[in-house]
Amino acid sequence: MDNLSDKSLWRTAAYIDGQWVGETSHGSYDLTNPATGAVLAVLPRCKEAETDRAIEAANRAFGQWRKTSAQHRADILRRWYELMVAAREDLARLITLEEGKPLSEALGEVDYAASFLRWFSEEATRVRGDTIPAKLTSQRIVTLKQPIGVCAAITPWNFPAAMITRKAGPALAAGCTMVVKPASQTPLTALALAELAERAGVPAGVFSVLTGNDTRAIGGRLTGHDLVRKLTFTGSTEVGRVLLQQSAATIKTCSMELGGNAPVLIFDDADLDKAVEGVLVAKFRNSGQSCVGANRIYVQNGIFDAFAERFAERVAALKVGNGLEDGVEIGPLIDGGAVDKVQAHVEDAIGRGAKLLCGGVRSEAGANFFAPTVLADVPADADIAREETFGPVAALFRFREDAEAVALANDTEYGLAAYLFSRDAARIWRVSEALEAGMVGINTGFISNEAAPFGGVKQSGLGREGSHLGIEEFLEVKYLCWDGVTPL
Ligand code: NAP
Repeated sequence: MDNLSDKSLWRTAAYIDGQWVGETSHGSYDLTNPATGAVLAVLPRCKEAETDRAIEAANRAFGQWRKTSAQHRADILRRWYELMVAAREDLARLITLEEGKPLSEALGEVDYAASFLRWFSEEATRVRGDTIPAKLTSQRIVTLKQPIGVCAAITPWNFPAAMITRKAGPALAAGCTMVVKPASQTPLTALALAELAERAGVPAGVFSVLTGNDTRAIGGRLTGHDLVRKLTFTGSTEVGRVLLQQSAATIKTCSMELGGNAPVLIFDDADLDKAVEGVLVAKFRNSGQSCVGANRIYVQNGIFDAFAERFAERVAALKVGNGLEDGVEIGPLIDGGAVDKVQAHVEDAIGRGAKLLCGGVRSEAGANFFAPTVLADVPADADIAREETFGPVAALFRFREDAEAVALANDTEYGLAAYLFSRDAARIWRVSEALEAGMVGINTGFISNEAAPFGGVKQSGLGREGSHLGIEEFLEVKYLCWDGVTPL
């Protein structure tokens, strides 16, 4: 709390139906700072009863919220955006404290998160239906777009602010209400967002936040309750699969932003400087804990050695430490389990013949830190080629031909992001069209922004967030068929 200039953004209670709920009958749990291991806060454990309360409140609130004008909802979202911008530094500190990313990156996340509230405050007033030529001259066909109803959002820890506003912005703009279950490891940012929502004029019940680490209890009600009409989830493919199954019983509409195993293709004709800087961002943002993070870096033979040398030099110089310290570029991983997975992937790759260019060990900065690592000549059967590593390890693979690179890139059940570096326009088109991914970064490692449709294909997800498409995920189409119109 000492880190915040606005102390009232430090909220350690759940926010249900416009009330701060500091205690439940299920006790509390400790939240720790991943950089230091120190207890940051103690939070109430919500379970089935609190989840039902939030859902019922969201349903009551929906009755009124859906009837407000689009302009009214736009004005409230705009105020929420402005309050986020004003609280930028405090929100960033909260993100760094509970998630670990360097403060400079946390500031970037706050800007990105706030941009969804601004964008969807604008989109709120641009929802349109159609008029469709009818088959009979006596009939007229019109479509309406209406809010889907009560929405449940389950979000991950790696972007504690943006993964919430990317859902709440379009939901509230459409006239829906929302119950959010943030990751148990990053509830403080979500609660600060609820505080700002209340100040912006979001009515009680329209936006609730549940805290707790009994994820199955909360998730079971969010996916099983009949009043919830939509589930919007961001997280791992494994959990997404479970939630889809649980949602089947009540036939909920589901949007899924799931895991990735992003390939990067660097061709011989690439601008080497651009490729090095682009892959650095695509790989090491958030210490490699990003769903669009580069996991498999395929480099063409002719440029392989030059790229590997330059890249490893840059990576070895990255500053590791507590994200609140000046100049830190690589923070901790979220917990010990994440560090174990990274270490296992590195050992597996080296065991299969990969060369270690830098890093490869746990960092002295603390228990949850891993030294930024580059592995070269990683064989195609290494674990890192198939699974999301979610850590600061860059795996470089060699390729000879374009078709071979595309086949390797597509050889995964995932299909979220892909990147390519080349100066040949025809090759860029050919390869972009052939990549099985929802998003392709061309000569850039940074592809996330509110104007673009974010989402994956294959087992990386269903639906799109952001852009003009994002609000559609929270709208139903109703068609009116009028008969009895006699043309004059
Ligand atoms: P996760 O383990 O799938 O958890 C995500 C959320 O689901 C958390 O709130 C978690 O709660 C909850 N959850 C877990 N098991 C549940 C269950 N049985 N029922 C209901 N809720 C459950 O993922 P994560 O480790 O937080 O995040 C990393 C993953 O998210 C990566 O795979 C990454 O690629 C993906 N991701 C995707 C995108 C995208 O836009 N496509 C963006 C960011 C991250 P607890 O915290 O309480 O466990």
